[in-house]
Amino acid sequence: MQSYQPTLGADRYRDVPEHGSFDVIVLGGGPAGIAAATTAAEAGHATLLIERLGYCGGAAVSGMSGTICGLYMTVADPHVAQPRQIIFGFAERFRAALDAEGGLTPPQIYGKTWVTTHDCAKYKKTVTDLLRGAGVQILYHTEMVDVIVEEDALTGLVLHTRSGFARVSAKRVIDASGDADAVFRMGLRTTKGNNGVIQNPSMMFKIGNVDRERYLDYWGHDTISPAKVVEKLEQHDELIRKKVWLFPTVNPGEILVNGTKITGFDGRALDVTDPVDHSEAEQFAIYQARDFFDFLKAEIPGCEDAYFIDYAQEVGVRQTRSIDGVKRLMNEDVVGTRKVEDSIARSSWPIELHYGAKPKTEWLVDDYYDVPFGTLVPKEGRNVIVAGRCLSAEHEALASCRVTAQCFEYGRAAAIAADLSIREGTEFREIDGVEIAELMKTAG
Ligand SMILES: Cc1cc2nc3c(=O)[nH]c(=O)nc-3n(C[C@H](O)[C@H](O)[C@H](O)COP(=O)(O)OP(=O)(O)OC[C@H]3O[C@@H](n4cnc5c(N)ncnc54)[C@H](O)[C@@H]3O)c2cc1C
Repeated sequence: MQSYQPTLGADRYRDVPEHGSFDVIVLGGGPAGIAAATTAAEAGHATLLIERLGYCGGAAVSGMSGTICGLYMTVADPHVAQPRQIIFGFAERFRAALDAEGGLTPPQIYGKTWVTTHDCAKYKKTVTDLLRGAGVQILYHTEMVDVIVEEDALTGLVLHTRSGFARVSAKRVIDASGDADAVFRMGLRTTKGNNGVIQNPSMMFKIGNVDRERYLDYWGHDTISPAKVVEKLEQHDELIRKKVWLFPTVNPGEILVNGTKITGFDGRALDVTDPVDHSEAEQFAIYQARDFFDFLKAEIPGCEDAYFIDYAQEVGVRQTRSIDGVKRLMNEDVVGTRKVEDSIARSSWPIELHYGAKPKTEWLVDDYYDVPFGTLVPKEGRNVIVAGRCLSAEHEALASCRVTAQCFEYGRAAAIAADLSIREGTEFREIDGVEIAELMKTAG
């Protein structure tokens, strides 16, 4: 596949019908986009959210990623310590709302920290309540296919809908597409993983009718596979991932399985921004998930009578493009637990790098690092800011900072910056990140 050639300029699309003009457009309804759209609309801005699927949640729902990671401090031994929450703001608002719907488990041990497993149906209801409550206009089943750029400013997006093409314009765009789709189509610099090699995707799936008591008795309360399971996995050549996570959900007898590593049929690492590779990923994933299900039934006590509920609606993508930001989160910032004054989110999540047969987890015990505001701001271009996993970060740093609780706060930070930028008529690059950090603290 050839790389995309940006089509700059408004002229090309002048005959395309205009759908509307907005203060803020949020591209993508994943965790970052949900937080960004809600925050922008609540600040009084006419806000449009564009999502190619028929619901929000991004990889957390369509990819059934399954848990809110990143809420709690990492500790030496979670079997004896109590969970200590380190991130609040929109992350806490969403956590509490989802919990009130009955859509979240209590904290579950994950290595040296905790996660809470969510139910996708309740997630959708929680998001719908939030976005409608805030007055966000939503276009589902709508894909952004091009950008309208005047000089270096992003002034509009070209959409593909079931009724054909449409144009929308905005004072500011928050690119929460996960893939930095708008930034990329503007022709601005992006990078991909470790010299182009990105973390492998996974196909999540759920199983039902598990005898939880017998399962927990064998597996234990840590959601990460114990050594005896790893040993068993090593005897199965057909399973290419040897360290896995299993999460009991809010539903009786149900377990969410994060146990696959998706490559090409020939074993090569895939680049899911290439539609050929992405399509192969979806197909390979079907077989890996079924093989892993057979393993669970045959080898894991309590799973003998389990049935396969369903695959996630699409393969879960951890990483694609990262922008070239005014600031970049470096690997050493994460391992060195660096604190900064322009922090928009804390993170104590390990470097959880899905690469090779066993995902590598590097823990930050009893400490956290800060993510600076400038990681959301592209070095070039105007009117556009990103939120979510496409922020500017080195490869291993991204393997830590990309999880849901932090993505919610990146979305909130981007919307607060969009509000400031519209009110004061300033460019994103002119905004002092310390001011955003202060505004975020003031707003909880
Ligand atoms: C297999 C897997 C397991 C994971 N497990 C966990 C976990 O247990 N806990 C956790 O906290 N995190 C987990 N993560 C990470 C987490 O799910 C993601 O990092 C998070 O969803 C990123 O949020 P985001 O909003 O940046 O992007 P995304 O969730 O990727 O959302 C981007 C949204 O933008 C939409 N979009 C993209 N381009 C366009 C376009 N051109 N037009 C219209 N819409 C568009 C997409 O449809 C999508 O809905 C996991 C990820 C994967 C892949």
